[in-house]
Amino acid sequence: MTLAELQRLAPAEIRSLNERFESASPQEILGWADERFGMDLALMSSFGLEDVALFDMFWRINPKARIMTLDTLRLPTETYTVMDRVRARYETEIEAFTPDSEAVSEMVRDRGYNLFYMSIENRKLCCQIRKVNPLNRALSGLGAWITGLRRDQGMARGTINIIEWDEVHKNYKINPLANWTFDQVREYVVTKNVPYNELHDQGYPSIGCAPCTRSIQPGEDLRAGRWWWETDPNAKECGLHIVEKAAR
Ligand code: SF4
Repeated sequence: MTLAELQRLAPAEIRSLNERFESASPQEILGWADERFGMDLALMSSFGLEDVALFDMFWRINPKARIMTLDTLRLPTETYTVMDRVRARYETEIEAFTPDSEAVSEMVRDRGYNLFYMSIENRKLCCQIRKVNPLNRALSGLGAWITGLRRDQGMARGTINIIEWDEVHKNYKINPLANWTFDQVREYVVTKNVPYNELHDQGYPSIGCAPCTRSIQPGEDLRAGRWWWETDPNAKECGLHIVEKAAR
């Protein structure tokens, strides 16, 4: 049993915190999480606009704030650039989790380098090996993790709570930006001069791996640029964020 399980909050306590945090700022939520979980807490970052804004807030609360990332080894150059800028600006170490090299070699040997364009099954396998498995490793030692999910990103994200028990990883998932809009995030980044991914200036609201992300046109859904060749709009998740309702 993990420490987080031993220290698990009662469902009524989570409900009450969620009610309280509905009108709280992201900084208040981060402050509570920092106090409750200390160094057992980390931001899981893909270095999109939400994540760099959150890390700036988190770092201002705790200069030793932990930041983790999943380096799929297929990220755009611009993402590695912003990672370097974040490291320099905050003098912080980024805890990067990479895929198992043997699993990647076998997958590529069997199905090709760009297997994800050929079928949803292939795409899910690639996401499993390059993202989900490293995420499981990253989260195995944490009491809680912070995400940049927002409700207005749609799909399953529309119903997230600010604090959720993550049954898959047996820890807490904290979504301080659940109530924020993209414009609020952008304003924070501009106001605080936070380093951000230059692809956001080229029509990319959401940035993942290079071969699986494109820019979007005005009026398109914010996640339309992810796995754009797939036609099912409800399939635009990679398995990193399974919303767990049990702890509401
Ligand atoms: Fe593979 Fe694309 Fe998923 Fe990245 S987003 S892990 S390249 S399928």
